[in-house]
Amino acid sequence: MITLKSSREIEIMARAGRIVAGTLALMREIVRPGMTTEDLDAAAEKFIRSHEGAVPSFKGLYGFPKTLCTSIDEEIVHGIPSARRVLSEGSIVSVDVGVQLEGLHADSATTLAVGRVDPSAERLLQVTRDGLAAAIAQARVGNHVGDIGHAVQRVAEGAGYGIVRELVGHGIGARFHEEPQVPNYGSPRRGPRLLEGMTLAIEPMITMGNPTTRTLTDKWTVVTADGSLSAHFEHTVAITADGPRILTAA
Ligand code: MG
Ligand code: MG
Repeated sequence: MITLKSSREIEIMARAGRIVAGTLALMREIVRPGMTTEDLDAAAEKFIRSHEGAVPSFKGLYGFPKTLCTSIDEEIVHGIPSARRVLSEGSIVSVDVGVQLEGLHADSATTLAVGRVDPSAERLLQVTRDGLAAAIAQARVGNHVGDIGHAVQRVAEGAGYGIVRELVGHGIGARFHEEPQVPNYGSPRRGPRLLEGMTLAIEPMITMGNPTTRTLTDKWTVVTADGSLSAHFEHTVAITADGPRILTAA
């Protein structure tokens, strides 16, 4: 069932979303070679809990142990922060975070460069960012979920990259994962129609090589089967009468 949110609920999600955005801004500020993903996680959790009533959405969700998902290089999503994972110069790290406030969630992700990275990695990040922006532009009343996926597909495949198909965006609200699923591929005018009050986490996961995935033995971390780099950008977006509203913008 797709739930439509009231304007009051959307305002609460926007407040949660500002904390999410602040968390990712902090991550961008502090990330550097030599840090561990556990360092990032600890700073993120402290920041989130410094806001009254805010709690990390991921901690305990389906049994996930941490505040962030931190996914390095060929890791696509769901990497578990660890004191043993040291960030090295030239890596990229995807940081995914959710915040729950007054019973409602917001969800966003970004992929950060660790120190100086190869121009080919920079391009992957830029194309994934562009794919997200193109997708958000389609998040309008009267469009369909397929218009969102199609926009990502055009940008990513146009640049020669792969699109992860096993993992998709989602509705979000009182539950972290709600209907509808929001794939990063699709056909225009197909899929559920977008209605005012829908709130969607739109999240392209784009690979430099083949997008086939496998899951590591930790049962969480999803990687590219061919070991190629992967990037992930995400915003929580409300469908409003005035067009798409990004709830996780800074
Ligand atoms: Mg996320
Ligand atoms: Mg999400």
